[in-house]
Amino acid sequence: MSKKHILLLHTGGTISMKENATGSVTPDGANPIAEVVHIPGVDASYTVKEPFQLPSPHITLENMLVLKQEIEASNADGVVITHGTDTMEETAYFLHLTLNPSVPVVLTGAMRSSNEAGADGIPNLTAAVKTAASHESQGKGVLVVMNERIHSAEFVTKTNTGNLDSFQSRNGGPIGTVLKTGPHFFTTPLHKETFEVVRVDYHVPILKAYAGMDAFFIKQLSSCDGLVIEAMGQGNVPPEAANALISLIESGSPVVIVSRCESGMVQPVYAYEGGGAALKKAGAFFAGGLSGQKARLKLIAALSAGHGKQLNRIFS
Ligand code: ASP
Repeated sequence: MSKKHILLLHTGGTISMKENATGSVTPDGANPIAEVVHIPGVDASYTVKEPFQLPSPHITLENMLVLKQEIEASNADGVVITHGTDTMEETAYFLHLTLNPSVPVVLTGAMRSSNEAGADGIPNLTAAVKTAASHESQGKGVLVVMNERIHSAEFVTKTNTGNLDSFQSRNGGPIGTVLKTGPHFFTTPLHKETFEVVRVDYHVPILKAYAGMDAFFIKQLSSCDGLVIEAMGQGNVPPEAANALISLIESGSPVVIVSRCESGMVQPVYAYEGGGAALKKAGAFFAGGLSGQKARLKLIAALSAGHGKQLNRIFS
């Protein structure tokens, strides 16, 4: 195998932080992970960049656009992005929606900071580089590698606040694993549509449905560009909330339904007031098995790409 050139983009997160004597975790001067430019077992050269150094709750869609542009401008054979774990799934999915990369793009991070016992940053970075350097990873979309598992950006999610095994994939599970020798894939994700995103400054909040939900909060959102509802079960909401959603749809704001369940797909099954079938009939869109945060990004990408009139096809 010929020597690979890898673009390493460091963006911050626990992987770049240290624990101090009182147990707080913070960035501490130089990024310890940025010094790692040799991964044992991988014959590669590296370009290392730090476009920003942010805890991932600070990362915006503008930051995600910067990463997209860095990847598009590079002629590396593979890209690895180190990232905080809190919003890693969102950056991964944003890149998945907006890039059609001819080389592997892999995100990774750490659940434990660089000087904690059992720190997972270096093992995760090693597994991510092995994955990005492998031709097996081509054509699989944007990937997340954590704890030796390979996830598609579409369904990966952080499921546990602190556990090393936090990252899981909704519905289908991981698409591969990283062995000592490199990545081993079980399956290839389905082909996906890429969106030509030009701007990202849309106001699209996410509201979670709950027993007794009324119209109050939905009525505050009359000026939003769209709304994602984490509905109950297969896509149902209480009657007063449904009426407010229908008014919002009638005023021209797209409403996208996902489920607050951990897995499964939304479908317009129930025709009672507030049921998914009634919401669909009123013009709500159903986002399959996507989580709320991923459906939000897909709606923003579709609006930005000028597909506002084709949301029926995009959320089919
Ligand atoms: N709060 C941290 C972040 O997302 C968590 C992590 O990186 O694991 O930046």
